[in-house]
Amino acid sequence: MKFVTVKHREKELPGVLSSDEEGVYSFEEIFGKEAPNSLLNLIQQNGKNAEVNSEIIKDSPMGNQSIEKIRRFISDPENIPIPLDQCDILAPIPRPLRNVICLGMNYQDHVKELKGADGKPRPVPEVPVYFGKMASEIIGTGGIIELHEETTNSVDYEVELVAVIGKGGRNIPAEKAYDHIFGYTIMNDVTARDLQGRHQQFIRGKSLDTFTTMGPAILYVDAVDEPVELDLSCEVNGEERQSSNTRNFIFDLPYVISDFSKGTTLQAGDLIATGTPGGVGKGFTPPKYLKRGDKVICKIEKIGNLWNKVEE
Ligand code: MG
Repeated sequence: MKFVTVKHREKELPGVLSSDEEGVYSFEEIFGKEAPNSLLNLIQQNGKNAEVNSEIIKDSPMGNQSIEKIRRFISDPENIPIPLDQCDILAPIPRPLRNVICLGMNYQDHVKELKGADGKPRPVPEVPVYFGKMASEIIGTGGIIELHEETTNSVDYEVELVAVIGKGGRNIPAEKAYDHIFGYTIMNDVTARDLQGRHQQFIRGKSLDTFTTMGPAILYVDAVDEPVELDLSCEVNGEERQSSNTRNFIFDLPYVISDFSKGTTLQAGDLIATGTPGGVGKGFTPPKYLKRGDKVICKIEKIGNLWNKVEE
């Protein structure tokens, strides 16, 4: 099951894709008056139910109630979806709960391509490199990435798998970590490399407007086997730049969820971006940064393609 947020007749509608992915069933159709007004809202309600029952979302009849209702609704041929070609696909969660929790340097080949200020390769991190990415408005597939030429001259792309937290918690043990995931989506962690390098903290170079693009959908957790081993890639104007598999993480999702939640409560709806593999623009000599009119496609197996154009 793939969860989306679309714009249809000027209205923002959260919903679920039909199995042929050519239509969307809105929560309004599925739930009527009780419909959650956003995908974030559905995830939060579900997470709360799961917590009340101290059960995991996937197996909890209470936590899973709305998911089961959706499943029944979309499998009934009497119910007709809105054709997707009448909609614009937005980011699944256009306005997140708080900053995206990001990992830097989480693939060996990406660590190797990044040189420190002294020109030498950076060491492989012994603990996860965390940073926050501010995104009060996340753009979706088809959205335009701005270059902010007055502020930066080195805008780069980074394909990443994002885990969407479905059930909050603190001190989550690694062996329970997957039970806290609602689903998975794709992020392009667009980055201003000069700003990233100029500041001790990454937040500045990562948080320019339109630099967080996500989607096209959140793939529900039950469609992905554990451990999560998904092919991911990124191409710019048809040229493949990045290609890897999430099995190559330095710190895997159970470790990250367990580690980050030590003393910090994760909340339903939190977004954890798991880092990018080698092949970013900065890694080439000379660097291949994004230019006006470029088309960037981030792909992750099973989830889909997230494409964006750079402003003309
Ligand atoms: Mg990144």
